Amino acid sequence: MPATILLTGGAGFIGSHTYVALVEAGYQVVILDNFSNAARDVPERLAQITGHAVIAHDVDAGDSLALDAVFETYAIDAVVHFAAKKSVPQSLANPQRFFNANIVSLLTLMRAMERHGVNRMVYSSSATVYGAPESLPIPEHAPLRYTNPYGLSKLLGEQFLNQKIRQPQGWDVGVLRYFNPAGAHVSGLIGEAPLSNGGNLMPLLARVAKKELPFLTIFGQNYGTPDGTGIRDYIHVCDLAKGHVQSLEKLLRHRQSHTVNLGKGEGHSVLDLVKTYEKVSGQTIPYRFQDRRAGDVAASFADPSMAADLLDFRAERNLWDMCQSSWRWETLSDPAWQLSEAKPTPRILKMPAAGLSPQDFRH
Ligand code: UDP
Repeated sequence: MPATILLTGGAGFIGSHTYVALVEAGYQVVILDNFSNAARDVPERLAQITGHAVIAHDVDAGDSLALDAVFETYAIDAVVHFAAKKSVPQSLANPQRFFNANIVSLLTLMRAMERHGVNRMVYSSSATVYGAPESLPIPEHAPLRYTNPYGLSKLLGEQFLNQKIRQPQGWDVGVLRYFNPAGAHVSGLIGEAPLSNGGNLMPLLARVAKKELPFLTIFGQNYGTPDGTGIRDYIHVCDLAKGHVQSLEKLLRHRQSHTVNLGKGEGHSVLDLVKTYEKVSGQTIPYRFQDRRAGDVAASFADPSMAADLLDFRAERNLWDMCQSSWRWETLSDPAWQLSEAKPTPRILKMPAAGLSPQDFRH
């Protein structure tokens, strides 16, 4: 009997890709999403990709009564918890709303899990918990700090879960600290929805390539990096999704809690991304330099060795794959682009004429 997984935020960017990875790994998955930051047709698209009916409920992960109904309906073995807000500017503008979504909801979900005897969770954390790193690459034992309410919410979430792990008969928890997720599923059917973007680089590159924006603003040109622009560890969202499956398997098979970085362990500058995106899209990406963005660090990339040792996880896809799949998603999902003068280049693969099956999309 395959395990049944409750996937909160399963219609969102990372959640939807993780749904595909879980189904391909043989799990039964129940999605909960309040669709505050995801398109309503995502479940339908997930059905197209996987070739299976999708169970998705329009439920807020902080709605205690609705959670009880879900746990009473399905025999849930573990929860993968994505449902949260992630925009740093939004967290600064309205911390209260942010804490409700990220902290109060997590505690409500944890209480509902306890009422129904579920004590295994994979938790979405972020490299933001390292603040400005003292050295690179960043290992998991680096000092933890926060620089905005979003970072604080992730740090507190980790700590609440650590308390649960330490209790007698404690929980089994996989805390996954993501670096910079980018790219999209190879089908071009799911990706990062524009409404979810809190100013992240790759969706902005796409908008400039599609001529929706006249130029990219690059924040900072005089960091102590080889080309002067900021360096980040970009990881393909499908690799990240696979990391969740491996984390879950560690919990289910070995009952081994863990806190690991999910990154590629390589840094790329903003200009590296501009050049690669220009190549995959066949479009010019004009840019202008501006002052550094408040709170940005010069460089951040993971020490990925603990995820490799503990979970046998390695991020395989490269920057080209991330840019190409992002462009495919951005152009296929955008009716305005289909009509525009600057059509997609021949590098964009055609969708199969009819009948999508998972085999069509395997890497
Ligand atoms: N960045 C940029 N222009 C933008 C958005 C981002 O130059 O419009 C840079 C940012 O300064 C950082 C990198 O791109 O060096 C990644 O930023 P993003 O917001 O995507 O992720 P972060 O690492 O800040 O969470």
